[in-house]
Amino acid sequence: SIPLSFFAGLGGAGSQGILIKGSNYLEVLAQVKTIAFDKTGTITKGNFAVAGVHHSPVEADRILEYAALAECHSSHPISASLQKAYGKAVDQTRVTDVQEISGHGVEAVIDGRVHVAVGNDRLMRKIGVEPIACHHIGTVIHVAVDGRYAGHILIIDELKEHAREAMSELKKAGVEKEVMLTGDIEKAAASVAQEVGLTDYRAGLLPADKVTVVEELLKEREGTGKKVAFVGDGINDAPVLARADIGIAMGALGSDAAIEAADVVLMNDDPLKISKAIRISKKCLRIVR
Ligand code: ADP
Ligand code: MG
Repeated sequence: SIPLSFFAGLGGAGSQGILIKGSNYLEVLAQVKTIAFDKTGTITKGNFAVAGVHHSPVEADRILEYAALAECHSSHPISASLQKAYGKAVDQTRVTDVQEISGHGVEAVIDGRVHVAVGNDRLMRKIGVEPIACHHIGTVIHVAVDGRYAGHILIIDELKEHAREAMSELKKAGVEKEVMLTGDIEKAAASVAQEVGLTDYRAGLLPADKVTVVEELLKEREGTGKKVAFVGDGINDAPVLARADIGIAMGALGSDAAIEAADVVLMNDDPLKISKAIRISKKCLRIVR
């Protein structure tokens, strides 16, 4: 039988916008000592602002138009940012043969004849295009047209309002290790890690690599009773949310798959609620024991 104070704990968390999917997760939360965070949408807002379009043979306006068109079916925050920067409604009938490759980007055919690829270095190399080297701080989205390099779009994300404070509150709540995991490039990752006050981060990860890293973190804690949490929002986060001892999803921005795979959902996406959830669980267990 479930102790009464567990219901109080779940209810108290609920009134703070923290949805805990079962009383057993209160016990796990109380023992969380390692947390792995996704970057985009978890530590950062995930509303990228387009800082510039840099082109070579193809005009800047055309690059943004092609990118917005190719991305029109994507639910990735990068797509939303490109649509916003483009500023016009895209005519979806112009877009066919769309292929979104997680951790890479999107390929599509525009107007039935132009092949467009929009994504990172990894996508460019996959289709045999050499991307130019960029020295910007931020996320770089390359665009290739008909198998030739066309230019890139620089997009800048910003930290969530409470991200830095959230990290220090977690330390105060007993968390010993905090790691940021991202599919973004090293430079973008390093700058966000530094801003948020994390020394431990891994960049350039594919969704499957994030699972591998969480498995390493689980191994480190094996037999200690200490638990490992993963916090994320993305379309590709479901496997890693499921793999951690406890998966925490951002509910407002998060994809349905992530929300479904998670054990705890933060309804308003506020990273400060992670330490709040840990504190509520500890308090509730002290009452029981
Ligand atoms: P994160 O780890 O920050 O949540 P993702 O795993 O979603 O990031 O994506 C990793 C990288 O893959 C992005 O930084 C971007 O370079 C590229 N990418 C993924 N999806 C898209 C997309 N729809 N359009 C362009 N690039 C994308
Ligand atoms: Mg993500």
